[in-house]
Amino acid sequence: MSSILIFCKDCGRQVPSSETREGRCLDCRVRRSVADLRDEHARLWRKRERYRSHNANVDQIGQQIARVEDRMGHRIKELVSNDRQATDYLRKELEAARGQRYTIKGV
Ligand SMILES: [Zn+2]
Repeated sequence: MSSILIFCKDCGRQVPSSETREGRCLDCRVRRSVADLRDEHARLWRKRERYRSHNANVDQIGQQIARVEDRMGHRIKELVSNDRQATDYLRKELEAARGQRYTIKGV
């Protein structure tokens, strides 16, 4: 292995240059590529909770959330060629997206 290690300019971790693009590691590129969708996901998730507390029908919002999650999956697949790795990334992003609401709610 003759790969050079460089510092990712977002997270500062040392990563092989072969895994970086424009100075960023794959983790950071994935995170950036889905950032807007993650915000959208959090927004819909909060909306659903609000509706649910009023006993409103939340099926449609559930479908919107599923679509956002689909789009996140597509974007991650564009960056990560390995299927299993892509699935791992998506799971991590979804956990983060779903976890975000607790942070926001807890404030
Ligand atoms: Zn990074």
